[in-house]
Amino acid sequence: MSLLPAVPASRTLGSSGLAVSSIAWGMWRLAEGGRTTAEAARLVHAALDAGITLLDTADIYGFNGTDGFGAAEALLGEVLTAEPGLRSRMVLATKGGIMPPLPYDQSNEYLNAAIDASLKRLKTDTIDLWQVHRPDILAHPQDVARTLDAAVAAGKIRALGVSNFTTAQIAALNHFLGNKLVATQPEISPLRIDCFENGELDQAMQLGLTPLAWSPLSGGRLANPAGERRLAVAAALDAVAAKAEVSRSVAAYSWLMAHPAGIVPIIGSQQPERIAEAAQALTVRWTRTDWYAVLVAARGVPLP
Ligand code: NAP
Repeated sequence: MSLLPAVPASRTLGSSGLAVSSIAWGMWRLAEGGRTTAEAARLVHAALDAGITLLDTADIYGFNGTDGFGAAEALLGEVLTAEPGLRSRMVLATKGGIMPPLPYDQSNEYLNAAIDASLKRLKTDTIDLWQVHRPDILAHPQDVARTLDAAVAAGKIRALGVSNFTTAQIAALNHFLGNKLVATQPEISPLRIDCFENGELDQAMQLGLTPLAWSPLSGGRLANPAGERRLAVAAALDAVAAKAEVSRSVAAYSWLMAHPAGIVPIIGSQQPERIAEAAQALTVRWTRTDWYAVLVAARGVPLP
């Protein structure tokens, strides 16, 4: 049985010219549990040592419903202040556009203030990838595009992305942008397979966007699956994991990476050993049969 193509260790983020690892590390959970700067630095080192150069955060990470807005960015900023040499080793991605606790705000005034605040917390002059976190239905895409293009022109942002946008919202914003989108960040995992068939990944390939998969283990649900469907998906992953001598998590990352859109899973673990282990995903090769077996388990119904 022939194998799907091997995944390169690095790729270019859309048309940005920015080289990134094929695996990213996310900091949604970084500020949980009162982590110290030294503990956060250990995780950043674990990612970089594993060859992971794309690091994803957001201004809202750390927000607990009442306070903590900016806490994850601020913690990373402290790490970068303590070790300034780390900044050039990473492609730094963050997001904004959620006005805590809600709603979403992509007005010129709010976004400009949000971008400036992120730069300040992260203790950096430039954000490599700035992503609109969630679509603001009340913002005209032409106005959003003007704001974002101006931030790029001012040198505050190098490249632009979106997260949780529909295909139509991506097309509309991209139409008005001078600096075209280079990335999109939907939820994708073996338990969240919508984008394989709803056009999101097809659009990403058409527009040359790098898809960054958030919650690639479904927020950890894949590690402790409950219920018939999740157990079936876990079993289909385990069959390949056993052959490749890797964990189920690694098999899950590699399953996403085998897609032709070049999906980059954003590892969510905040444990150095698990971050390091993720790099093994580059070694796992899938047959078409095994890949579809996971998809069919996730669909819960056979292919037509
Ligand atoms: P995930 O990889 O699906 O889940 C990670 C969670 O699973 C962690 O709490 C981890 O705990 C746990 N886990 C349990 N067993 C594990 C195992 N064997 N291996 C690895 N992890 C295991 O990812 P996520 O944290 O939900 O999300 C990943 C990243 O996606 C975030 O950091 C963020 O950058 C991005 N994100 C974006 C959005 C958006 O709207 N754009 C939303 C959510 C997330 P331990 O830490 O103890 O390992």
